[in-house]
Amino acid sequence: MSPAYRLSKSRFTAGLQCHKQLWWRVHEPGAPELVPDAQTQAIFDQGTDVGALARSYVPGGTLIDFAYDQTRQKVDATTVALAGTAPVIYEASFFADRVFVAVDILERRPDGFGLIEVKSSTSAKPEHLPDAAIQAHVLGQAGLAVRRVEIMHLNRACTFPDLTDLFARTDVTREVAALLPGVPAQAQEQLRMLEGPLPEVAIGPHCSAPHACPFHSRCWADVPAHHVSTLYRLGQKAWDLVSAGCGTIPALPADLSLSATAERQRRSVVSNRLIVEPSLRDALKAFEPPLAFLDFETINPAIPVWDGCHPYDSIPVQFSCHRQQRGGGYEHVEWLAGGPGDPRPQIAEALVAACAGARTIVAYNASFEKTCLRGLGLALGPKATASMEDIESRIVDLLPAVREHVYHPGFGGSFSLKSVLPVLVPELSYDELEVSDGSIAALELARLLLRGETLVEAEKTRLRGALLRYCELDTWGTVRLLERLRELADGT
Ligand code: SF4
Repeated sequence: MSPAYRLSKSRFTAGLQCHKQLWWRVHEPGAPELVPDAQTQAIFDQGTDVGALARSYVPGGTLIDFAYDQTRQKVDATTVALAGTAPVIYEASFFADRVFVAVDILERRPDGFGLIEVKSSTSAKPEHLPDAAIQAHVLGQAGLAVRRVEIMHLNRACTFPDLTDLFARTDVTREVAALLPGVPAQAQEQLRMLEGPLPEVAIGPHCSAPHACPFHSRCWADVPAHHVSTLYRLGQKAWDLVSAGCGTIPALPADLSLSATAERQRRSVVSNRLIVEPSLRDALKAFEPPLAFLDFETINPAIPVWDGCHPYDSIPVQFSCHRQQRGGGYEHVEWLAGGPGDPRPQIAEALVAACAGARTIVAYNASFEKTCLRGLGLALGPKATASMEDIESRIVDLLPAVREHVYHPGFGGSFSLKSVLPVLVPELSYDELEVSDGSIAALELARLLLRGETLVEAEKTRLRGALLRYCELDTWGTVRLLERLRELADGT
């Protein structure tokens, strides 16, 4: 077997997801798809921060601290640490059967060792188990008696400012033991595969689960338009249809029973035209003037920073509101937190003022706005709860008006504002914006508010401007979308 190829825990789990993905990762380590974008890098950084913090919750350890590619030095230093008396070793490193692993936290126990894999999720998940299993296998090959395997993850019950219970440890010893017998053959199969040419692997649900594959655009480039996987909420059934030879929506059997929304999608795609149901007219009656259009942006820090917050709580830190004016037209009101302090009292106050006088508050995919309002009420006490409940009682969601009554082939099976707006209101576009989707906005907001001291003033001003423009487009887009829907309903 070629000594050029070796596995790591991340390579092994990538190989379990897809051999082709692993082949590209190993043979093209400089591929542009593997350069993390800002969002991926922020997730990596967050994982690194959580991992480093987790060590302080299992204190007294020795850190095996070498550069990324100094694997020999790491393994040698681990041998030295194991010969000593340290109760805990962080990043303990082992190499056996052509697999290198570094254990996040290795605990010495009276009967052997405890292996702890740190994850920045809030629970142990099935996809964490092979990751722990390959480590347990390599440690066993290196002669260590692993008696306990745990996933150490963030604890949603932890409430700022008391971070003593920030982490929880879930015992997965039994689950990992059940996987262990299969691990050597899986690793050897991956190593054999790496010696050969790029393997043939068909696209499938494994392209997005358990992790989004970075090579998606390579494998999906030739997938025909209206692939059956874009059919609204079909899930695994879509892939069963692909296996049965029905690759696209027009090729579906005529007698296939679909939900009303998916059936409308099929009719629209087959006829290649916009479908507007006559029922849209009645659906739009719920949007009674005077209207206000509301959109929140949030941050969700893994490690909470404000009183009463838990890991990954979504905290609204920005909103945009377009208010219908008596004489016609719209007034724009916006609010964005100014720094690292708790923004909730001020944003709640600004919201009440922004929504005053509106009979209907329009949001797109309103469950998000409603959750934000409930969270603000809970955090700020009874008076704020009453104000937030009042705002929530006036919210009407525009998304179902599209999903239940309208379809255009350009939607591609999605009813998100980013999918619907460019088709129905083509003069509005997110393409030119520096911040162009909600997850990027959340990252940039966290950078601006929580790590603002790392930015120079000009960068802060630029970032604030980009975030304000993005949020404003969400509410102005919703204004224009409702107007367009009214035109379409009038034409039915
Ligand atoms: S896109 Fe799918 S088939 Fe292609 S490498 Fe990734 S997981 Fe494998």
